[in-house]
Amino acid sequence: MIPLVDLLKQYHPIEDEVIRKIRDVIATSSFVQGKTVEAFSQAFALRHQCAYGVGCSNGTSALALALMALGIGPEDEVITTSHTFVATAEAIWHVGAKPVFVDIDPATYLMDLEKIPGVVTSRTKAIIPVHLYGHAVDMGRLMVLARQYQLKVVEDCAQAHDASWEGRPVGSFGDAGVFSFYPGKNLGAYGDAGILITNLPAVANLAQKLLNHGRAQKYYHDILGYNYRMDDIQAGILQVKLQYLASWTDKRRAHARYYDSLLQGCPDLVLPVEVAGARHVYHLYVVRTSRRDELADYLKAQGVMTGVHYPVPVHLQSAFQYLGYRQGDLPEAERAADSVLSLPMFPELEPGDIDRITQGINSFFKNPRRVHV
Ligand SMILES: *Cc1c(COP(=O)(O)O)cnc(C)c1O
Repeated sequence: MIPLVDLLKQYHPIEDEVIRKIRDVIATSSFVQGKTVEAFSQAFALRHQCAYGVGCSNGTSALALALMALGIGPEDEVITTSHTFVATAEAIWHVGAKPVFVDIDPATYLMDLEKIPGVVTSRTKAIIPVHLYGHAVDMGRLMVLARQYQLKVVEDCAQAHDASWEGRPVGSFGDAGVFSFYPGKNLGAYGDAGILITNLPAVANLAQKLLNHGRAQKYYHDILGYNYRMDDIQAGILQVKLQYLASWTDKRRAHARYYDSLLQGCPDLVLPVEVAGARHVYHLYVVRTSRRDELADYLKAQGVMTGVHYPVPVHLQSAFQYLGYRQGDLPEAERAADSVLSLPMFPELEPGDIDRITQGINSFFKNPRRVHV
């Protein structure tokens, strides 16, 4: 069986280092939002060309902290994409603001920046671009729009560790960048964790306070906040894994090129693109086909697992019905939800695995009638 993601294959070669680190962190007796969290957060922020890193409990809380620290709240509207994990829009709801969705560019699956001017109102306060699948949004163009309409920018980089736009890391363009360290992400903890990075000291300070009950010092609270803290054991594991991120990303990119070469010219199969200016880090390798479900079943029967990211666009989720969106409002996002398929992608994938996966795909399209195996 070839899984979509295999976390154990990544763990085995670093097991000793990880276990040693966990012991070291326990020996410090500082378990929550301590020195290890601080050291890791700083290192991660610097790597993405930001002066401040605020480690926290997960990517969702990091998004909410960023919005709160930028003063976004009730009555405000925040523009984002509907083709994303629900957390992007959920964080907007967490702060009491209203998510406003724009459609996607069907070639990249990223937010269609040309649609932004059409949805800006007097209440619009921010934009959350999502660097989906590990690709990068055109941040040059986006920042021009943000300045034109005076909007704050929070980059959702949950799937895009080490991705860049025109040589500059994602997360460093906007007012804040937010990453998730959920286990399956390109840099994953062994539990939940996330971070907010920024070059604005006021945003870093306020976020740091909000994530720890609003306190400035222990038992003194001038504002109220949340418990969105990170565990030091997770930060320690992330310190170990951060050393390998560059080589893991290179492997993901090499796998993508190999997939491309073997799937080139396959009819009714659209391959992922990497636009000029972007450095794609392939959190996911996503193809599209009008026969998505059939292809997924066919591959599964051959022991190849796939995924769908995501089957229901956020504007059509029942939980967001109150926003009043209807089927047909964002046609490209809806089409993507019906046709995208994520193929196995993780650094430890073997070229032989990719041979097997792509042989399965090519034989599926060559034998259109043999859908049941
Ligand atoms: C994973 C993810 C999040 C949420 O991160 P968590 O750490 O799971 O809370 C937000 N946005 C996107 C695009 C994601 O993929």
